[in-house]
Amino acid sequence: MQTVTLHDKSFDIFISEQIIQESIAAVAQQINADYHGKNPLFIGILNGSFLFVADLFRLIEGQAEISFLKMSSYEGTSSTGKINELIGLNQDISGRHVIIVEDIVDTGMTLEKIIHDLQQKGPASLAVATLLFKPAAYQKTIPVNYVGIKVANDFLVGYGLDYDGLGRNLKAIYKLKS
Ligand code: 5GP
Ligand code: MG
Repeated sequence: MQTVTLHDKSFDIFISEQIIQESIAAVAQQINADYHGKNPLFIGILNGSFLFVADLFRLIEGQAEISFLKMSSYEGTSSTGKINELIGLNQDISGRHVIIVEDIVDTGMTLEKIIHDLQQKGPASLAVATLLFKPAAYQKTIPVNYVGIKVANDFLVGYGLDYDGLGRNLKAIYKLKS
């Protein structure tokens, strides 16, 4: 599909399924090298990261665990700036090597809140893996350790990313038509 329509908007194909999978393999390779023998705990941030974390986690070698957190800051196509609470972490992360898995890092506000909250729980280390990163929008100083693909400041959907609930099941990533 070259173009999709979701609600009132049209989106053009932007990142193919193949490029997505290749970039995930590259991220997995880096994580496998960095966390060998460390039994890392992956924490997927729902809802957007569910496909990325599933594909990434399958490529992780050796012992590894996974858990999920929910948090949302986005309504429609622009960041509202309001950060909701972090819910659902019923796992002890103290002394663990934690890797936060995000679908996309935009301003970094969501990430800052997550890092701040998780830091209080005494992990041995805390790193961030994201499929997509918007460097031009990023306003924070927290390092984003593993990046699949750097993108410009466009609104994207597909492969877990939604526009008001729709588009998460698209296999490729699409960009809002300008
Ligand atoms: P931040 O707090 O970094 O500004 O925004 C992070 C969250 O906003 C992401 O986890 C995602 O839910 C949402 N977001 C940011 N950019 C996009 C985008 O281009 N498309 C979609 N669908 N969501 C986005
Ligand atoms: Mg998200």
